[in-house]
Amino acid sequence: MSLQHADIAADLTLTIDGEGAKGSSTLDVINPATGRLFATCPAAGRDDLDRAVDAGRRAFPAWRDLSYDGRADRIRRFCQSLREHQESLAYLLTMEQGKPLQQAKDEITRAASQSEGMTKIPIVPQVLEDNDQRRIELQWFPLGVAGIITPWNAPINLAAGPLTSALYTGNTVILKPSPYTPLCTLKLGELARALFPRGVVNVLAGGDDLGRWMTEHPGIDKIGFTGSVESGKAVMAAAAKTLKRVTLELGGNDAAIVLDDVDAKAIAPKLFFASFVNSGQVCMAIKRIYAHERIYSDLCDALAEEARKAKVGSGLDADTQLGPIQNRAQYDRVVGILDDTKRSGARILAGGEVPKGDGYFIEPTIVADVDEHSRLVREEQFGPIVPVLKFTDEDDAIRRANDTRYGLSGSVWSSNPERAAKLASRLEVGTAWVNQHRATSATVPFGGAKESGIGRVYSEMGLKAYLEPRVVSILK
Ligand code: NAD
Repeated sequence: MSLQHADIAADLTLTIDGEGAKGSSTLDVINPATGRLFATCPAAGRDDLDRAVDAGRRAFPAWRDLSYDGRADRIRRFCQSLREHQESLAYLLTMEQGKPLQQAKDEITRAASQSEGMTKIPIVPQVLEDNDQRRIELQWFPLGVAGIITPWNAPINLAAGPLTSALYTGNTVILKPSPYTPLCTLKLGELARALFPRGVVNVLAGGDDLGRWMTEHPGIDKIGFTGSVESGKAVMAAAAKTLKRVTLELGGNDAAIVLDDVDAKAIAPKLFFASFVNSGQVCMAIKRIYAHERIYSDLCDALAEEARKAKVGSGLDADTQLGPIQNRAQYDRVVGILDDTKRSGARILAGGEVPKGDGYFIEPTIVADVDEHSRLVREEQFGPIVPVLKFTDEDDAIRRANDTRYGLSGSVWSSNPERAAKLASRLEVGTAWVNQHRATSATVPFGGAKESGIGRVYSEMGLKAYLEPRVVSILK
């Protein structure tokens, strides 16, 4: 299949009140594998946002009054539509985001199945007290219009979770993707038009300004935000003016702690994949590996071997495992961290090169003997360069893993899962895995401790973040 620039640009519109809209300006979309413009799409101005909010407010009462089953049915049909359009959506995702085509397809499958899973979670009132004198019930009601703001690393999956949470619980939605990856999300809006009542799903492309206008808008009741810590703080400050509810899914600096009893060769492919998938541009990617001194050198060698084997290239090439960095600014940041790491005297075991030529490519890089205070260890690198740090004492490993403002997730690896689980329970994170990393599901809450966020997505907990509790207390 080949979609030409003109086809893609001609196709796309914003979705406002169930109809296509042209917006008030345009966004240029770069293919990160070439560094060149490949599509232009409409972008929303303030008037478009006002119209979308009005449409969302008008649609809200009827959508709220539909049953959970009625809303679940629409969402499941939407998931089916995602699957039917998987090929063309995956192509578009690879073109704008860069990830290998198969991983783009997987992202769509995951978005559909996790959304379906969420629509099977019952939300029922709870009786808190029922006796001769009184009956007290805890009920849940939707908030109104939810603004959903997403980043560029997994635009379909990261839209699907909050979109489903908001819709299933009876809210209407304004969805805004990152300006770097607007195209797939605009397509989602087009698919939604055929399946949801007018005004229930509105999709607006735009830059950071549009995000700011959303967080300040008095007609929006909730912000479901996924992005960086810095932007998350700005969202929370802006939302305070109207006391909007917020769910903030922010950055991470996940540690994997590898104990002395592992088979280094056997676990290296798993650690490598959890660190480097999507070229490290995953909030819950492993970003620091702490390895016990007994297996340190074996693990370094095995990880370096994995890195040398990995095929880097355009996501459209069938054998590519790692695509480019998604955008120029992030590429420059990661190159800066790589330069800083080289200057610090750390040992580069594999990679370390920035290929010349088109596209934002960086070789997968494994670094040993790195300074704990270096940028690579302290910051969220969000790219294909991972440090391996040595420890001798498990208490010290936990202390160093927790010595960060981030708290998204982490993992402990051992041939003895019980032993690992004890240590995992000491990680200051939203999710602590044992012998795995980056496993999420529709029924399990996911989100960050510390500055990695507020609230959870998925699960009953995530759904209730789009609902307000109401106590009904009856004196008999
Ligand atoms: P970003 O914060 O720059 O942008 C994210 C979105 O917020 C974009 O749509 C952007 O236009 C918008 N935005 C920016 N400033 C805003 C503001 N002041 N008000 C409202 N909206 C604003 O993040 P990014 O660079 O697109 O994404 C990468 C970051 O996202 C990484 O830190 C990554 O870890 C994080 N992330 C977190 C999760 C999670 O579930 N915790 C998942 C994926 C990515």
